[in-house]
Amino acid sequence: MSDLTLNINEIMADIKRVAVSSGRDPAEIRIVAVTKTVPVENIRLAVSAGLNILGENRVQELTAKYPLVDGAEWHLIGHLQRNKVKYIVDKVSMIHSLDSTALAEEIDMKMNVLGRKMNVLVQVNIAEDPNKYGIKVNEVMDFVETAARLPGIRIQGLMTIGPYVSEPEEIRPVFRELKKLAENVRKMDFPGVEMRHLSMGMSNDYIIAIEEGATLIRIGSSIFGAR
Ligand SMILES: *Cc1c(COP(=O)(O)O)cnc(C)c1O
Repeated sequence: MSDLTLNINEIMADIKRVAVSSGRDPAEIRIVAVTKTVPVENIRLAVSAGLNILGENRVQELTAKYPLVDGAEWHLIGHLQRNKVKYIVDKVSMIHSLDSTALAEEIDMKMNVLGRKMNVLVQVNIAEDPNKYGIKVNEVMDFVETAARLPGIRIQGLMTIGPYVSEPEEIRPVFRELKKLAENVRKMDFPGVEMRHLSMGMSNDYIIAIEEGATLIRIGSSIFGAR
């Protein structure tokens, strides 16, 4: 077996084991294979090995790879500039990084032209890191209420990028807070809003993210090797 297949098998085994020990159904946890800087041949191998959600954080890289890979759906996971929305709305099945009202309005406008809705996650800057994108915790409720009125987007959950920590365990409170926030949003019952996804956890900390309720784990280097 190739390294890639071994890596994928190991992550899938982790998902099963950690989900079961946390009382969760492993089937509700999906891997988003993060393909930034990864050559197309390796992406194709990952798809053959069963990974059918691919994540890119740059529009240009996504649109370049998109026509070259079959059998998978693409998610945009990085900050999206408004003027680039038009390049991806017909290519991605989810945007994890909704982080402003202006962006929500732009996506809405483009989706209305296509006559479809885009699945989006609201990116939350839990640690209030000034160098990170994302809605502040205390603004999430108002943001969701407003964005939910746009017919071209379907809010499906929350996403966060954990702060850099030396000890993965330090990140647990961040994931726990994202989950609590999602539960609070769910209780508001905003029309059209479904808090079905928590996008959290990367190579370093996906085990903890699964324990804390992640449904989409975004994994790059543990699959494809160091960048
Ligand atoms: C690169 C990236 C990942 C994956 O990071 P790894 O540590 O390689 O698993 C996840 N999410 C986002 C937003 C990224 O940019």
